[in-house]
Amino acid sequence: MDYDLVLHDVQLVSAQGVRRATVAVADGKVADVLDAGTRPSAAEHLDAGGLYLLPGLVDTHVHLRAPARPDRETFRSGTAAAAAGGVTTICEMPTSEPPVKSGRTLADRAVRLQPDALVDYALYGGAAWENRHEIAAMAEAGAVAFKTWLHAPALGREAEFTGLSCPDTGRLHEVMREVARTGLVHALHCEHEQILAVAGENARHQHGVPGAVHAAARPQVAEDASVATVLALAAATGARVQPVHVSSAESVVLAAEARARGVQVTVETCPHYLQLDEKTLFEFGSWAKCNPPLRSAATVERLWAEVRAGRVDVIGTDHCPYRPEEIAAGEQDIFVSPPGLPGLETMLPILLTAVHDGRLTLPDVVRLTSARAAEIFDLPAKGRIAPGADADLVLVDTGRQWTFRPEGFSKAAANATFLEGARFTGGVVTTFSRGHRVFDGGHIVGEPGHGRFVRPDRARVAGRRTTT
Ligand SMILES: [Zn+2]
Repeated sequence: MDYDLVLHDVQLVSAQGVRRATVAVADGKVADVLDAGTRPSAAEHLDAGGLYLLPGLVDTHVHLRAPARPDRETFRSGTAAAAAGGVTTICEMPTSEPPVKSGRTLADRAVRLQPDALVDYALYGGAAWENRHEIAAMAEAGAVAFKTWLHAPALGREAEFTGLSCPDTGRLHEVMREVARTGLVHALHCEHEQILAVAGENARHQHGVPGAVHAAARPQVAEDASVATVLALAAATGARVQPVHVSSAESVVLAAEARARGVQVTVETCPHYLQLDEKTLFEFGSWAKCNPPLRSAATVERLWAEVRAGRVDVIGTDHCPYRPEEIAAGEQDIFVSPPGLPGLETMLPILLTAVHDGRLTLPDVVRLTSARAAEIFDLPAKGRIAPGADADLVLVDTGRQWTFRPEGFSKAAANATFLEGARFTGGVVTTFSRGHRVFDGGHIVGEPGHGRFVRPDRARVAGRRTTT
């Protein structure tokens, strides 16, 4: 057979291991994985010179907000940043205006975003009390999962969070039961509303640098108490829950204990909770503000131990773009600036640097950034390099040493002041989305409109539904 593209002399990385291979692509799919040295005929040949080849990343946690806030990020700039970061599937959170709160808003958004998409995208639906009767319709429209914030929206942002926020545990119980009926994953922002309210009030009267005030306003107990509640509700409802951007090792342990009892729980963390600690928050204030906040160095070390032990399932970026002026506004009063950091372009370099430093292996990186996410979200064409899978491929150079500058393809790239001067070892050389180059040698070479809306596998999801 004649292939479209053959990649020679790659070190193919899967969640199981690394092997030298030749990878053949046809019609946007991986057609064959052949022994190293095989020379099949093909329209195009690429000699990878022994570079590592990973499945394209499936980023489980992205906020581009398109089409609502083109001043912060467009779908074009955000998916370009994804391509540059080796991310070939983004799972876009339901934060937009209007938020994704119904079957119709989800279907509309899927169509509206497509012409700007450089890589594939899946969409979360919001799940809350006020839109609980739309949960089945969002699943029908192709939602990849549901997302609920367990704290109330910030003052002034209520409209953005209609259908997304559910601080009331009694109501959450009902919402979770609805989500369980769809068979899809229920992703939850776990911070306990009442603990945040009291700690936040106390922190306002506290003296100290703005970053320390933010840390005091959102203590780890708020996260752990919220995760514990979610696990109890998941046990009762049969929901498949995924606490997201977990910063607390104790929360990971709670989830692992629940999983051992049969609760369907998976855990997501983010690169910044592993790479940075609260010293960065204290130094950079609103520029390093995220929710939950960056934690102590000791907590970061314990979280690393949980990641290495395999008790964290996925790492997603929580890419959160804002205009620099919005973040600068919090330099005196950190409560007035929005939370969130850019991450699409830095996640893979951060994790490759962790491999270089001996904290992870390359198969760990594949498991955490694509393979496990594709299993959890029932995306069988993603997250693996095997015949029949989409040819979403990332060639990386694990030896490249470079110094970070806050610049890139995301409109929010300049916000990463807290990484300025950071030393990285490892970077993306070429990203392929379904066999097409979308990023190569430092440049975006893909076209908007190449990306497609991705929905989870219907039959697999159907098998996961609860019937109560
Ligand atoms: Zn988020």
